[in-house]
Amino acid sequence: MSILDNKYNLQVQVSRIAEVAGYLWQKGWAERNGGNITVNVTEYVDDAMRALPAISEARPIGKTLPHLAGCWFYCKGTGKRMRDLARDPMGNGSIIRITDDCAHYEIVADQPVAPTSELPSHLAVHDYLLAKGSPYRASLHTHPIELVALTHSKKWLKKDAATRMLWSMIPETKAFCPRGLGMVPYMLPSSVELAEETIKVIDEDYDVVMWEKHGVFAVDVDIMDAFDQVDVLNKAAQIYIAAKNMGFEPDGMTDAQLRDMTAAFNLPK
Ligand SMILES: [Zn+2]
Repeated sequence: MSILDNKYNLQVQVSRIAEVAGYLWQKGWAERNGGNITVNVTEYVDDAMRALPAISEARPIGKTLPHLAGCWFYCKGTGKRMRDLARDPMGNGSIIRITDDCAHYEIVADQPVAPTSELPSHLAVHDYLLAKGSPYRASLHTHPIELVALTHSKKWLKKDAATRMLWSMIPETKAFCPRGLGMVPYMLPSSVELAEETIKVIDEDYDVVMWEKHGVFAVDVDIMDAFDQVDVLNKAAQIYIAAKNMGFEPDGMTDAQLRDMTAAFNLPK
């Protein structure tokens, strides 16, 4: 028995989350309990689900998020591993609903798996997205090896230096990560400052934000799309590194070639 029984649309969303968690592990981006996933699943919650009793007391989020009243989220569990979530998403994550005061949540799931300690910052991002009228419902934090390696050089921390290089490695990078890679300087993991700065950079019009010497935070309509954006960026970083390993600095596509992509594919930048 699972709360997902007879809820086909919600099951599909949870399966996609589990599929992405498996990819994160396979790619080596999710060591131990590294990384986080939260997805706003409100549109897949039916009346029968809304009528279910909570299996936890109402717990404080730690902040009041006015756009989240009545919203439902799938959240990775605190201390849980992506590789375990891939096999058993409801044993390593849970579904929560936000109470009407917008300051608490309760777990409505198969087991009372406590959500990630990053919950306040992830929910703050979802609150920001809803306030903006964004169709984005998924947020992903992971540790893509080559992208993180790039941030160990000041050269790539300058605004859009990494974006320009990554876009120029292979045309699809710009087509499928059309807003590029935002950059947040090193800040303490889990800190309020890091969450606030991340929202600020998303608001500057990026879907993927790089945290210096740590990882990426990506948002998109669903979890598979958020993963795809990170995947194409990291692929471009791998091509750059492959060229460097062959002993030369890759030429990259020209500015004119990059501009042609914007026009041909109607891209935002
Ligand atoms: Zn991390």
